[in-house]
Amino acid sequence: MKTINIHNDLKNEIVTNFIEVYDTDYIYIPISDEKYIKKTGNVLKGELVYDDHNNKYYSSISGNILKIINVKSNKYLVIKNNYKEESINSGRARNLDKLTKDKLISNCLDLNIKNMFLSDIKLLYINCIDDDPYVFNKYMYIKNNMKELDEFCECIANLFNIEKVLFVIKNSNNDLLDMYKLNELENSKVNFKLLPDIYPIGNKLLLHDYLIKNNDEKMIELDDLINMVFSIKKNKINTEKYITINGNNIKNPCVINTKKYAFLNNIIKDLKIIDKKYDIFLNSFISGKKLNNNEVIITDDIDAIIINKKCSDDELECINCGLCVEVCPVKINPLVKNDKCIKCGLCNYICPSKIKIYERNQLNEK
Ligand code: SF4
Ligand code: SF4
Repeated sequence: MKTINIHNDLKNEIVTNFIEVYDTDYIYIPISDEKYIKKTGNVLKGELVYDDHNNKYYSSISGNILKIINVKSNKYLVIKNNYKEESINSGRARNLDKLTKDKLISNCLDLNIKNMFLSDIKLLYINCIDDDPYVFNKYMYIKNNMKELDEFCECIANLFNIEKVLFVIKNSNNDLLDMYKLNELENSKVNFKLLPDIYPIGNKLLLHDYLIKNNDEKMIELDDLINMVFSIKKNKINTEKYITINGNNIKNPCVINTKKYAFLNNIIKDLKIIDKKYDIFLNSFISGKKLNNNEVIITDDIDAIIINKKCSDDELECINCGLCVEVCPVKINPLVKNDKCIKCGLCNYICPSKIKIYERNQLNEK
């Protein structure tokens, strides 16, 4: 298989600019059925406002519930910010020294994680890889919260007799390891594991296959760990979200800690765009979808907005070069629809004829 270091290929730089809490006048909670709305009138930060059994949405601001609006085929509950940050979370942060196994398991919100802690674990990997070359959310989160994550991991390692907890990062982010040593956080149980910066090494399924060799070795995502820190240690709902705003058509790339359910348009208006003609990609330049408009609400599944100079979309004839087959990490023929596809988008990226192979297969799925 041909491997590509996309960072080197695109020559983009590590994003170091961080904006702490991007506040917003309004938030827009996505709803599918009005009968599941749990609140009217005033609302507190962290208060449950919508629960249809599949989705639970908590307000990320304090303020007033205004109305329901329709945007295209989607419905949103609009909440106006009173900027008082009044929070429902009256619970105090828990002291990790007093935490027990049972308390930890009972406060885990995710069923898979709960079950994982009921089995034997010798080695626990935390997937901290931002795969897309333009995305730096996990990198920035660890940088900003290293001590807290380290303490929490040490606590779970001690409680569950885990021999090692390893933060898995790309070797291009090895300044995190230097910072870890500099802050003297090194301990016998928690450390880093560096992997080559080869896309899509951070893909959940591929990384699991690559790392996990025995039943007592487990892997969770950094987001799972963050959710545990919030529900178990901080004892509150996480109402914020890191998103990366980056791309070759933007002067001030940054990672923003924004309120969940903010409107993307409001965030974009503050950016310094270089060329007026641009394309916006959601979450990933390589595998993300190109947006036709900026009407996007920041929900849990939005990680990044990539703003790149407009490129021609014109496809040329396939020249049978075979590059798409050569790069495919799951060793399938990208030109034939296959359930094994992990939707990494590498076949598109490498194609000299700019054929949208991956999009074609997605269309076939509908
Ligand atoms: S076929 Fe799927 S897995 Fe293979 S390169 Fe294309 S998008 Fe990635
Ligand atoms: S990379 Fe593009 S041009 Fe080459 S074989 Fe695949 S589809 Fe055809």
